[in-house]
Amino acid sequence: MPSYTPPLRDMQFVLHDVLHVTDDFKAMPKHADIDADTISAVLEEGGKFASEVLFPLNQIGDAQGCTLDRDTHEVSTPDGFKAAFDQYVQGGWPALSCDPAYGGQGLPIVVNQCFYEMLNSANQAWTMYPGLSHGAYEALHAHGTDAQKALYLPKLTSGEWTGTMCLTEPHCGTDLGLLRTKAEPQADGTYRITGNKIFISAGEHNMVSNIVHLVLARLPDAPAGSKGISLFVVPKFHVNDDGSLGDRNGIYCGGLEHKMGIHGNATCQMVLDGAVGTMVGQPNKGLAAMFVMMNAARIGVGMQSLGLTEVAYQNAVAYAKDRIQSRSLTGPKDISKPADSILVHPDVRKMLLTAKAYAEGGRALSLYCALLIDRELNHPDATVRADSAEMVALLTPIVKAFITDNAWTATSACMQVFGGHGFIREWGMEQYVRDARINMIYEGTNTIQSLDLLGRKVLGNQGATLKKFGAHITELVMAEQGNEDMAEFITPLAKLGQQMTQFTGEIGYKAMQNADEVGAAAVDYLRVAGHLVFGYFWARMAQVALQKIAEGNRDTFYQAKLQTARFYFAKLFPETASLMATARAGSAVLMETDAVFA
Ligand SMILES: Cc1cc2nc3c(=O)[nH]c(=O)nc-3n(C[C@H](O)[C@H](O)[C@H](O)COP(=O)(O)OP(=O)(O)OC[C@H]3O[C@@H](n4cnc5c(N)ncnc54)[C@H](O)[C@@H]3O)c2cc1C
Repeated sequence: MPSYTPPLRDMQFVLHDVLHVTDDFKAMPKHADIDADTISAVLEEGGKFASEVLFPLNQIGDAQGCTLDRDTHEVSTPDGFKAAFDQYVQGGWPALSCDPAYGGQGLPIVVNQCFYEMLNSANQAWTMYPGLSHGAYEALHAHGTDAQKALYLPKLTSGEWTGTMCLTEPHCGTDLGLLRTKAEPQADGTYRITGNKIFISAGEHNMVSNIVHLVLARLPDAPAGSKGISLFVVPKFHVNDDGSLGDRNGIYCGGLEHKMGIHGNATCQMVLDGAVGTMVGQPNKGLAAMFVMMNAARIGVGMQSLGLTEVAYQNAVAYAKDRIQSRSLTGPKDISKPADSILVHPDVRKMLLTAKAYAEGGRALSLYCALLIDRELNHPDATVRADSAEMVALLTPIVKAFITDNAWTATSACMQVFGGHGFIREWGMEQYVRDARINMIYEGTNTIQSLDLLGRKVLGNQGATLKKFGAHITELVMAEQGNEDMAEFITPLAKLGQQMTQFTGEIGYKAMQNADEVGAAAVDYLRVAGHLVFGYFWARMAQVALQKIAEGNRDTFYQAKLQTARFYFAKLFPETASLMATARAGSAVLMETDAVFA
């Protein structure tokens, strides 16, 4: 059986020692009173809920999966899922970072993000039910009419209802411009929506009394392609003006997907048979409105993978300490036993350190990103709000793709630490690998994230936002220039920062002659950018650890942080050289291959 301990110590380190979040909060009237004790209390309770309520259901959920009653179209979730959801609602957890105007607690997003990491470590499949709801909440909060907000937000905030996002259709995934679902305007101002959606997470389940679907569909006179898509809110049960539930609406689950992982989450084929909905935002501007939800969801997917990396790491370390096998290459380390623990083997340490470096780097990056969202939403200075929004846009594809790619590597490495036992179900490790794989696919595949980063967020503004991130690196490098202890971190970081300008310029130049150059370089480019950002945070974390050690702090936490930073810069960061080489190899070797595919 696997185990899970919420990584509260590392969260506190990132929140307070690295990001100094409460200094930021003081500048935001809405959060000015939030102090470190409040954050600790929330995270401690949240960690208990994750580890004591959700974690024990993770393997059960995987083994049982969801079931569909074909007569009623109702979906049952695995044993214990509904009771856990009830407990989640009773604890007020869905409301954590929601708007107090709709019953929310108004806590910063960065606190909610820590909570979500723990939920995902404990049980990713379960966490997708409230996770999707939060995205629906955000889209309605940003683009809903006052009436829609009044009708739906209080119930999404309390957790009485959950939400979904219904984009994908059988012939249309990445390219939403191909979407066919139709919305016919009615005399009363509503729309009747007809079509088939597939792969809809949490599309149907037995945990709440109503499900609020956000559906992309096309008006009869809509232009072709992505400029003709509108967004609609379609409840499972009609909602009366007083908030009470009316009749069943014409949207139902026609089938459940059988899949590689996240078995506890219902992935539904949804049939819309003249379902009644109301429009969210403007006609034909549905994608822009849905993007609010998709961006939140993309960062959420990064948190899923961060959670899996952390829990896989914790279990692999515990196993490696216990498992004895072979002697150390440098001679026996524990002669009281017939063999040494596998922790003596360099490659076992490499696998463990890889997972640790990716987990802690991912935590620093994603919490920074969450803090930027708090600034974007609540800072009184409009320039700070705009700068923060711009930086969130740049970092979102990195959080989504880099953290999820890393989690695939890390969970696989942690499984490998178990040898054959990792492949066996009872240890729980193979589930982490299976669950981690979807995170690279949904919410826009990681290829699409890389095109978004390189094409739109970097080349789209001549690298202006990337340069703003580069300014943070320059500031750190200048501050630590004379500090020998920091040289092993800031020297490679500064070098990559300089290389990045030329590297980006080269791809941009080649792309002007041949647009395929962007497609050929983008995935490698995102990984290089990911390391640039991780490198910055690992250098910052090393800086704090060195300061604490210099002050005489003997907590091994700081030694461990420093050692992990060293490992990261020595063994993972240098991957950037080969990535730049393969990106520079260009598109011809990919596109001039007609004979291969003839
Ligand atoms: C378990 C699960 C849950 C999901 N949950 C939801 C949900 O809640 N709501 C929802 O609406 N959808 C959901 N999805 C759908 C998911 O978002 C899509 O699967 C994903 O967007 C990819 O679409 P696709 O599967 O049609 O692949 P395709 O779009 O057919 O892509 C196939 C391959 O081609 C590549 N490709 C496509 N276009 C390009 C391009 N322009 N440039 C380069 N490469 C390209 C892709 O990267 C991919 O590798 C879910 C899917 C799964 C499996």
